[in-house]
Amino acid sequence: MGKSSQISGFYKLSTQERAKIVKEFANLTDEEVGLIRATGALKLEQADRMIENVIGVMPVPLGIAVNFLINGKDYLIPMAIEEPSVVAAASNAAKMARVKGGFTTNSTAPIMIGQIQAVHVVDPHRAKLEILSAKEEIIKKANEQDPILVSLGGGAKDIEVKVIDTITGQMVITELLVDCRDAMGANAVNTMAEAVTPLIEKITLGKVYLRIISNLATKRLARAKAIFAKEALGGEEVVDGIIEAYAFAAADPYRCATHNKGIMNGITAVVLATGNDTRAIEAGAHAYAARSGQYIPLTVWEKNNDGDLVGTIELPMAVGLVGGATASHPIAKIAIKILGVKTATELGEVIAAVGLAQNLAALKELATIGIQKGHMALHARNIAIMAGATGELIDKVAEALAKEGKVRLDRAKQFVEQFIKQEASK
Ligand code: NAD
Repeated sequence: MGKSSQISGFYKLSTQERAKIVKEFANLTDEEVGLIRATGALKLEQADRMIENVIGVMPVPLGIAVNFLINGKDYLIPMAIEEPSVVAAASNAAKMARVKGGFTTNSTAPIMIGQIQAVHVVDPHRAKLEILSAKEEIIKKANEQDPILVSLGGGAKDIEVKVIDTITGQMVITELLVDCRDAMGANAVNTMAEAVTPLIEKITLGKVYLRIISNLATKRLARAKAIFAKEALGGEEVVDGIIEAYAFAAADPYRCATHNKGIMNGITAVVLATGNDTRAIEAGAHAYAARSGQYIPLTVWEKNNDGDLVGTIELPMAVGLVGGATASHPIAKIAIKILGVKTATELGEVIAAVGLAQNLAALKELATIGIQKGHMALHARNIAIMAGATGELIDKVAEALAKEGKVRLDRAKQFVEQFIKQEASK
């Protein structure tokens, strides 16, 4: 019989006791348990307060993308990501953008949407009108929940109401529009949405079920633009190739998913490094890309009169500098210090610029030498490690693989053996 994963009271145990159970379940060695529990800056006690059932931490490399000039200001960009070549690609694209002055950005106010779902409303359009008439009362009730946010100039600002058709009938959806200032806002908005529920039920005479923030943050958009000189890209042919790549993504969701994935390589890495909610940003980005009914690229690429490439990006950007892990994770705090951003809006705009840079780098590679050449040079190190190389041997094997153009595990194993033998016979 297999081992059971049904473990009652797991949450009540210490991180050490939990690790012991997992060790037995998965036949981990003492060394493996040691590695899981070998925390760096994030101490086990801190991790244990962040999520449930903690046994250790999962370190991810933190790299710095260089060369970013955004609105005339220089930024070093912390990126937390396990995938090779992303940080190098962002730095490279940012360098190319500098030729024409770097990135320019803007954004909307940090408005998040909280949804309140009322069902079984007999006369939904009457209800809609009356909810709108009670706007001031609803906003007042919402704002009573968060005097700090209100004191900072944020808080509920407006409401919108829609009647939607669903498979279970019509629903009246009230949307609270909340300025979240420097917070991502989920807790703040959810609290407000719950607080106004009695008012909505009184007006609609229906039943309220869900009261929750929407991750499709269409009122909290970040935008970035950059011009890439054709000379910096390698000529007008490269510009044309990139526009063809963009056109492909705009017409075909299979290509577009990968186009947007490349953008999210950069975006998610900065979101994670700053302790923000990667899932919230990803859900928002992909839902925004599909808002017209067709899934389209988050970026647009065009050619200007000079034959240079002009790139723009626009996407929802619900990131914060307070709340969640942003202010409690010790590395996130340092990442924000490295970035030097003063507001959540500034952080969002920097992230949008990174997404645009990441996309340019990927499209340039795809439209010219192909993705594997550059990618594989870095990937070769991972393959070398997988083949058993350690220490100086890693780079030696990686170099040999890259030189040969065959970055494969079988070949890496042969090189490891060969180099070890050579070393032994010296
Ligand atoms: P929070 O509630 O921890 O902090 C926000 C609060 O901080 C504000 O309500 C305000 O009272 C206070 N504050 C102090 N200084 C502020 C400033 N300068 N600007 C704004 N507020 C300031 O955090 P939150 O941002 O409301 O919630 C974020 C967390 O919610 C994240 O951890 C996220 O993962 C989680 N979450 C997300 C979802 C979702 O995305 N669907 C759902 C639930 C929870």
